[in-house]
This record gives sequence, C-alpha cells and structure tokens, in this order.
Amino acid sequence: MSTIACDQCHSGVPAFEVTHFGSIETGYRDLCSRCYNEEVARLSGIRFTHVDFQPMELPDANGDKHRFHFILRLLGTMLTLEALEVRADEQEGYEFQVHGVADADPFALMTRLLERMRHDLAVVHLVEGELGLAISGTTVRGRLTCDLESSDRGGLAKLDSEISGFSA
Ligand SMILES: [Zn+2]
Repeated sequence: MSTIACDQCHSGVPAFEVTHFGSIETGYRDLCSRCYNEEVARLSGIRFTHVDFQPMELPDANGDKHRFHFILRLLGTMLTLEALEVRADEQEGYEFQVHGVADADPFALMTRLLERMRHDLAVVHLVEGELGLAISGTTVRGRLTCDLESSDRGGLAKLDSEISGFSA
C-alpha cells in the first residue's frame, strides 16, 4: 500500500489515515492518527492513550471477505473509531463509524463497532435477478461519494444517502 510519512514520527501511513493538522499561525503538518491524537490530547488537556487497531478481514453474507482499516480519532470533546474498507490499496467500499465521549475506552468503541459491522455485513441488499442485480427486500442503503481530485467528477460534493422503506 502506498503510504505518506508522518511529519512527526516519520512512520509511513496510508493517505486516508493522515490528518493535515495545524493553523495558519503555526503551519500545517501531515500527522498519523497516533501523533494527531497525542497532539489533540495535549492541546485539550485530555489524558489519552492511543490504540493502534490492526487491520481485520470480515466476511459478508455471501462469505466474501472485506478488509478493514481502523482509525481512532480524538476530536476534542469526542472520540471516534472508523472502519474503512480497503480494496487494491484504495479506500473504498464499506465505511462504519462509532463515537463516544473524549475519554471513552477505545476497546469498548471497538466492541460496538464490530457488532455494527457484523450486523450490517450480514444483510444482503442486492440479489441476482432475471434482469441482473435487484434489490433484496424493501430496504436500500447507499453511500454516494466522489473523488474530488478527479477531473471528471470535480463538481460533486460528498453525499450520504439512505432510503428506507423503498419498494422494489
Ligand atoms: Zn506519527
């Protein structure tokens, strides 16, 4: 996987883990999640111990495996844990997130996140029908995103979409 060197600890991390952190006065640095969290904890006066969760593969309802990277982020008054699916070096596919208070236990967040991931991955949303892929049941969940750095999709903003109760 292509990586970017953290400006603080110089370890290589995937681009989606890097936070461009700072201000006009102090200048900006690209930080890995550990260095970013330690900096936010220091500035906010929060006692915080970073946890590096290792990537994990989880199967969906069809038995297909999905590889996830976990990113723990301290956002001042809250702590978030994200699971991002990575395919062929790119961050794409499923995304999950849970959050708690700033001093929440990262392992408790991980337990909640894994419960949600297992639950959602077990749901079959699409089935192969006579006319190709079709909606299974009456619920559609989607996430429409675009690459803002791509020239042919430049104008679109990131959009989350969830349609429940849709009848096929
Ligand atoms: Zn770092």
